Amino acid sequence: MLRVEELREEIRRHDQAYYGDDSPTIPDADYDELLRELRTLESQHPDLVTPDSPTQAPGSATVPTPFAPVTHGVPMMSLDNAMDFAELRAWGERTHRRLEAEGLHTRVRYTCELKIDGLAVSIRWENGRYVRAATRGDGRTGEDVTANVAVIRDLPHDLGAGAPEVLEVRGEIYMSLESFDRLVQRTLEENREAEAAGRKPRPVPVNPRNAGAGSLRQKDSSVTAGRGLSWWCYQLGELVGAEEPPGHAAALEWMGSLGLPVNPETRTFGDLEEVYGFCAHWEEHRHDLPYEIDGVVVKVDDLASRAVLGATARAPRWAIAYKLPPEERTTVLRDIQVSVGRTGRATPFAVLEPVFVGGSTVGMATLHNEDQVAHKDVRPGDTVVVRKAGDVIPEVVGPVSELRPDGLEPWVFPKECPSCGGPLVRLEGEVDHRCTNEDCPARRLARISHFASRGAMDIDGLGERQIQHFLDLGLISDVADIYTLDLEAVRALDGYGDRAVSNLAAAIEASKDRPLANLLFGLNITHLGPTGAQLLVEQLRTLEAIRNASVEEMAAIDGIGPVIASSVHEFFARQGKRELVDRLVRAGVTTEAEGPEPGEFEPVLEGRSVVVTGTLEGYSRDEAAAAIVARGGRSPGSVSGSTYALVVGESPGASKLTKAERHGVPVLDEAAFEQLLATGELPGEPPGGP
Ligand code: NAD
Repeated sequence: MLRVEELREEIRRHDQAYYGDDSPTIPDADYDELLRELRTLESQHPDLVTPDSPTQAPGSATVPTPFAPVTHGVPMMSLDNAMDFAELRAWGERTHRRLEAEGLHTRVRYTCELKIDGLAVSIRWENGRYVRAATRGDGRTGEDVTANVAVIRDLPHDLGAGAPEVLEVRGEIYMSLESFDRLVQRTLEENREAEAAGRKPRPVPVNPRNAGAGSLRQKDSSVTAGRGLSWWCYQLGELVGAEEPPGHAAALEWMGSLGLPVNPETRTFGDLEEVYGFCAHWEEHRHDLPYEIDGVVVKVDDLASRAVLGATARAPRWAIAYKLPPEERTTVLRDIQVSVGRTGRATPFAVLEPVFVGGSTVGMATLHNEDQVAHKDVRPGDTVVVRKAGDVIPEVVGPVSELRPDGLEPWVFPKECPSCGGPLVRLEGEVDHRCTNEDCPARRLARISHFASRGAMDIDGLGERQIQHFLDLGLISDVADIYTLDLEAVRALDGYGDRAVSNLAAAIEASKDRPLANLLFGLNITHLGPTGAQLLVEQLRTLEAIRNASVEEMAAIDGIGPVIASSVHEFFARQGKRELVDRLVRAGVTTEAEGPEPGEFEPVLEGRSVVVTGTLEGYSRDEAAAAIVARGGRSPGSVSGSTYALVVGESPGASKLTKAERHGVPVLDEAAFEQLLATGELPGEPPGGP
């Protein structure tokens, strides 16, 4: 078979999965690559182009549908793509040349919009009444989804007296991240119930785009209604009985005035440099939005210019989609290995053929635990989908089943620790396997690295490589040895000058002043994280009190459950650990809490959650949190609907601000924060509070 035919067949298969079943098997970036290859071959061999090639019409052309057909009065088109600024510039120059040849504007204005990752629809009102909605389909004929679009919350059913005779607009239906998370949680819950009752679980939605499209294309509109879909309006279609605005930005404004949701991030620019700036901004800030975007759509604003530019069979020439770098790619899973951490937890991780995704090259990704590997059913040798979104750690989404080579066996969790050869055990009721050998070299290394890490004792210059080196030479064997490290022996090592040794000595010395909670967290007590350590210190105040506290005493502290309490108690009950802690105390580490005793302040923030973002002048982040907690409040890391106030310092996190705005959470500066701490009141509130 010719390569073009092979490609067409493969692309049609993916179209069926994507448009027909709303469950694609490969990432969009991989699909786009196939389409690009086909386009290149067809442009080199025009005689091979067929009228039904996927390059000739939007991709859903060949997909059968259960919905009634609707013919679009004005065709709904796809968009050409620019993968980088060079392609964007080439489009700009082409556009310019064409317009110039027609004696039109030499100064083109571009309206830039977010490219919402959803499903295109056409929505129609007649004399102000909502009458119909249809999907894009093949561009000429779409699917009738009137009943399902009717249940979308921000869809006006009546545009009021000023509405034109016929108004048809185009927009994108999408599922917000919040609705998507809710759907995932609900599905997981239902699956747990189903499994308990011996029924088959349902597939868990993989991304908002396909979950949104699947939710819209339901036979029963009450299902759609429960999914919380939204839409943005971005294009005027058929218009009867009103004058067409002269430009696209004006049209958007007019549609907005009729009550249609127009995305507020839309901007119009006079040159391409500014357009690049807009694209670069959203490349960096795409994750600040409460919904997913996959690009920026750049549109020539002037309607007369658009008419001159026209369209190809598939897409208008007056617009282009600048694609953001893909966050999902496929690659080969070479192996699954296990790493052993400080508490003995054995974590399986994927060793991948390195792949560039989400802005960096990914060669490894955690697989969390045995159940996750089984659930995802990934096997060494599989082609897998890898996802890396923003700062989030890379994730193996799942295998591309159709590419699985014959005879691949499911992966089996190793029985022995890869470091010490001891047994890896999984206790009843736990998801993790653990190496139970306290002296396991991998555990020892991880324990000391954790102790020296930023979140614990923060010993600069004592990273994993140095620790391994010192362990190998017998210079240290546990965390307390750091404080009696033979610095002369270190000075004699390759790669250590006087400067490095004195820096290390200073860092070790400084670590003695770290707060008690950091020390406690650094001790590698199973289940005890930084928050738990902080809570223990706040309530019990001294290392002595913590090491002698009973399980009940600790479990009674709000935020410390019985699991953590038992684990801490068991840790300090062990002879070896008591001795280790004694040696640390003799070395001079902090053994008492800083800051106010609980009860020293009026509990003016009782039961309230106050989030802090950015740098404050008078408080470090920990001090601000401690001040809130000392007044009975909580200081979680993220904003939600129940947040009482968001305190904003220098360079705040944009997503926290966006969320605060969305939930109507008051935003305070440092002065207002001081007032809040003193009185519990928000600025502008009458004395006595709400
Ligand atoms: P496209 O998604 O690249 O661009 C056109 C679409 O962008 C429009 O139809 C509209 O829905 C949308 N859009 C969002 N915001 C917009 C705005 N502000 N203005 C105008 N349009 C806006 O083109 P396409 O033809 O829909 O491409 C199909 C997409 O689906 C590609 O991203 C492709 O990777 C993906 N796909 C994936 C698979 C797969 O198997 N993974 C299969 C088929 C298609």
